[in-house]
Amino acid sequence: TDFSSLALSPELLSVVQELGYEELTPIQAASIPLLLDGKDIIGQSKTGSGKTAAFSLPILNKLDLSNQNIQALVICPTRELATQVVGEIRKLGRRHVGLKVLPLIGGQTGREQAQSLEKGVHIAVGTPGRILDHMNRERIDLSDLATVIFDEADKMLEMGFEKELRAIMKDVPAKRQTALFSATFPEAIQSLSRRYQRNPMQIIV
Ligand code: AMP
Repeated sequence: TDFSSLALSPELLSVVQELGYEELTPIQAASIPLLLDGKDIIGQSKTGSGKTAAFSLPILNKLDLSNQNIQALVICPTRELATQVVGEIRKLGRRHVGLKVLPLIGGQTGREQAQSLEKGVHIAVGTPGRILDHMNRERIDLSDLATVIFDEADKMLEMGFEKELRAIMKDVPAKRQTALFSATFPEAIQSLSRRYQRNPMQIIV
């Protein structure tokens, strides 16, 4: 299957073409149509599977650039992954004029991130501790948040971020789409899914 079979905007289809993505990867073929349809998904994914584009294309497709509030939040276990995800979203979003994607990670000053948050952000990508820190300081407005992504959820639980995830999820709108990606599905991941997802379709590739 190729990308043109998907209900993506012409801008996104041309970016994907420019990047030389010809075939959908299996996780993309299974998850993009469901995500475009507003469904929650729980997807099996490893690095290199194309999972980042799988969730980023649907986010970009429904983004309202004229709204400067955060519309999508991607939660990652590490700074490195968050940085990679930001790079991929910017690459896929290069036809989105004025797109603002902000990494919320440690190792950078919180003040700079706070200034960027104040100027407006469409998509935030970060690690649980730093996201929560900005929330606690009331620097983040999540009232227009439409999509939450748990990226490498098993790794986040292994790293002991469950408490932070709970605290973050306490303050997100009930009406939202939630996608969870994980390499493995132990009971702790299924329980995370039950707590924060609505009738998720499970994708095993
Ligand atoms: P990920 O698994 O998200 O870390 O992606 C792995 C790499 O594959 C990234 O460099 C992507 O830019 C690239 N990629 C994603 N989807 C495709 C595709 N359908 N065809 C070719 N490359 C892709």
